[in-house]
Amino acid sequence: METGGSLAQAIRKPTLTPKAIIHQRFGSNASYTVKEVEEPTQNECPGLAILQKGPCLYRCTLELPDFTVVSDSFKKKKDAEQSAAQMALEKLGIKPSADSPTAEEAWRELIARVKYIFSNEFLSALHPLSSHFKAALRRIGDANGSVPASVIAICDAKPNNLCKIINPTVESHPFLVLSYIMRAAAGLQELVVSPEERFSIWRKDPYPPDVIESSMSQQSNVAECITIMAIYIPCSPEKAVEPVVLNISTTGYYLDVIAQKLGLSDGNMVLISRTIGKASSETRFYFEAPKSYPLDMSSDLLNAKVVTLGGPLNARATYICGQDIYGDSILASIGYTWKGQDLFYEDVTLQSYYRMLISKTPNGVYKLSREAILAAELPLTFTTKTNWKGSFPREILSSFCRQYRLSEPVFCISDCPLKASLELSRSNKKPEVPETAEQEGGYSNGNGAVDSKSGGFGSSFTCEVKIYSRCQDLILECAPNILYKKQNDAVQSVSLKVLSWLNAFFKDTAMPLEKQKQLANVFGIKFCPQNFSKEVVQCASVYNCQQNDTLGGKDPESYDVVENDLSSVNIEGPESGLCPSGGSLLCVSYSVSLVTKGELQKELLESIEEFEFEMGTGAVIPCLEAVVSQMSVGQSACFYRELPPEDLVLAAAKDSENALAFLSLSCCLEYSIILLRVTEPPEDRMEQALFSPPLSKQRVEYAVRQIKESCVTSLVDFGCGSGSLLESLMDYQTSLEIIVGVDISQKSLSRAAKVLHSKLVMKSDPDAPCKSIKSVVLYDGSITDFDSRLCGFDLGTCLEVIEHMEEDQACLFGDIVLSSFRPRILIVSTPNYEYNVILQKSTLTSQEDDPEEKLQSQSCKFRNHDHKFEWTREQFKHWASELAVRHNYNVEFSGVGGAADQEPGYASQIAVFRRGILPKDDGHGEHEDSACQYKAIWQWNRSKPPLTN
Ligand code: SAH
Ligand code: MG
Repeated sequence: METGGSLAQAIRKPTLTPKAIIHQRFGSNASYTVKEVEEPTQNECPGLAILQKGPCLYRCTLELPDFTVVSDSFKKKKDAEQSAAQMALEKLGIKPSADSPTAEEAWRELIARVKYIFSNEFLSALHPLSSHFKAALRRIGDANGSVPASVIAICDAKPNNLCKIINPTVESHPFLVLSYIMRAAAGLQELVVSPEERFSIWRKDPYPPDVIESSMSQQSNVAECITIMAIYIPCSPEKAVEPVVLNISTTGYYLDVIAQKLGLSDGNMVLISRTIGKASSETRFYFEAPKSYPLDMSSDLLNAKVVTLGGPLNARATYICGQDIYGDSILASIGYTWKGQDLFYEDVTLQSYYRMLISKTPNGVYKLSREAILAAELPLTFTTKTNWKGSFPREILSSFCRQYRLSEPVFCISDCPLKASLELSRSNKKPEVPETAEQEGGYSNGNGAVDSKSGGFGSSFTCEVKIYSRCQDLILECAPNILYKKQNDAVQSVSLKVLSWLNAFFKDTAMPLEKQKQLANVFGIKFCPQNFSKEVVQCASVYNCQQNDTLGGKDPESYDVVENDLSSVNIEGPESGLCPSGGSLLCVSYSVSLVTKGELQKELLESIEEFEFEMGTGAVIPCLEAVVSQMSVGQSACFYRELPPEDLVLAAAKDSENALAFLSLSCCLEYSIILLRVTEPPEDRMEQALFSPPLSKQRVEYAVRQIKESCVTSLVDFGCGSGSLLESLMDYQTSLEIIVGVDISQKSLSRAAKVLHSKLVMKSDPDAPCKSIKSVVLYDGSITDFDSRLCGFDLGTCLEVIEHMEEDQACLFGDIVLSSFRPRILIVSTPNYEYNVILQKSTLTSQEDDPEEKLQSQSCKFRNHDHKFEWTREQFKHWASELAVRHNYNVEFSGVGGAADQEPGYASQIAVFRRGILPKDDGHGEHEDSACQYKAIWQWNRSKPPLTN
């Protein structure tokens, strides 16, 4: 077997996964259930006393007919499934065979398999294929008892796997399996008849009557005729795709009915594609078998030549299926499954067909995920996870790759500590690393990219992505080299870049190569034109004819269609003053209808009660965004738009027939919208965008200056949040030894603990600037409560916290700190309400309304919806001065962002309280006892001080 061995070497199939082996054995009798599990994962930050909801973990339960196993928990669903399958295999005593069979062994196995499926016992086996055998026995005339070879190829996984070993080209020419099955049957002449000119096989001797009887008894005979909807897709792209009705009587064979609709004599002449869409679907294409075998049957078995199937390629069907489909075809969802003996079927409507079609484009996937086909658009930028609605860019990219049968996208995240650049900036040299962000211009603004001027804090991430074909040829890569604070932002943003480029391509599939390349440059993408066009080439013919198909019925005279001109928009209702601006989250309710000239007829296509999107990211069709930007909360508007490509209208229309009737008339789309809510853009994004360095960084720098000047050794950060100040302090050389943070938000504290842990423990460096620090503690508690452990600290900070409390609580806090904790210095910052005018001016750019309206619209707007108040300079001074007097402190006012002597003052106002000389205290002693109201949730001590000689 020398030769066989080397051949097998060359065509060795990849080892099957445990799940694949379970599937071969049990088919749909193996049921996987994946559940999310919440398990505390302490390892990320040892010593953190808050229960961590770790990263999402999954556990899989695999139910087999005889037993059930449960996997460990895994980060990925598919790992949990594989692990469960592996456990089941171990229980069953099955070891995946390390050695795959040789081609000759596979061939012998294939013959044995064909022999088995035509045996008496297989007829009563629980197998989708045996249901076909039973149905074949009900066929009339010549076809009685004959089983189409295509059915064997799609219902039985075994021949497929064996054929791949016999001839690896089967992978790309799946219909070759038919030839091999026919050829195997030809070697079983004592058992079956397999005429060379037909793709069907039948038994030479009929089944014994008792075998037939016992197999038939399993069927639940719910008589009646089945009527299902299917789709007819003519080969010629000029001919319209149409619904067809399949009437299948219980005594008939469904393939014969499909054959008849295709104009064929019987079901033996029908080829069947693989399934489309989700794995459990039975949606397939049916089309005419070629006149000859796809394999030259006279040639040597192992070196057989592939003959391409005859007939013209059906571009639309081939594009959707990803497998070559020839001639006219029918798309139907019908078949025998593992679930039972009865025929499974579902309607395939024109709407489902068009949804399949648009789901091949990134924009389509996004629209479908939002169920807003006529309103949503794939946004251009990824701002934050919370503002993004619908499928995330990464998911869309994966689903795109799956659609085109490419390998899963490969992401490579690199963690670039910005230490080097910090060192540089401290010595007043220009930082090197962050420049990358600037090249991006507007793109990086506000989307989580690290600010280029600030040097950034903590680690930053860049992410690149590569997309390969099935055969691992590189199709494209994108390595934007932009720094992001969060890994997720980096991954999503790079995915979105690739998707945006793909989208541009799908909008104009006839785009010349030069333009494709230019666009790729804009998005920072390198692609291999040959490999790219090889993988997605079909779409060009499909979408272009789709575009031409758009019925030119519109009559521009009859409507004031909104595309760029907003003058015709009719906005109704009183102006409420609550207007959207860039970065706002909006919630609208809308409906879109097809309307004919003069609005004589109207057909509702799409309507959503509450639809949320972020302004300024291109998350909706441009005219919708343009109209909404003119509205205030509570107002409604109605406008008309030219018909978009027909595939979009039909993907939205539930009643395709009606929609088609409209499309043949002169009509357009009518949008009715009501603006329900506007949520202000997050404060910090505003700060990032408008201040350089960002306001938060300026506050930190302000505090650091105070710390240095006053040579303090201990600090409490009241309302430390996620630790932005504490983290930054690690990067500065100060005299601080003891640091404490207090907050009521456990979520924020956990984040703070993780950041500090990674700074102090993971990346601990004896020469770090913060080497003076001896201990850090985080407390969970309200800063309006007393805790004796906070007494006697040198300096307290309370940055942007008081406005998150009710005003009386802010006063209470002031009293407690200055009366009980009595730090030497207290620094309190809070937004200056008067500065908001400037913030809003720069975010409400595109409007040119009269100034009065504008002023009105700005009343009672806070920077952040969590703010309970925002004070003017006057109000803040009043609060701070009274407080200082009450507790014998001096107070000075300052701020960051803007200037003191320029209206309207600083963006963030700051009060610095300094303790006066104490008159022998009396009222302050009441808390002397050790009250510990706070809960320490994390702490760190420099256990071994660095040895110095
Ligand atoms: N000082 C941080 C966080 C500001 S956000 C920074 O500058 O980045 C406001 C923080 O105040 C939030 O984390 C919130 O949880 C906290 N906070 C609000 N009321 C509080 C209270 N009564 N006690 C402690 N923290 C409070
Ligand atoms: Mg705030």
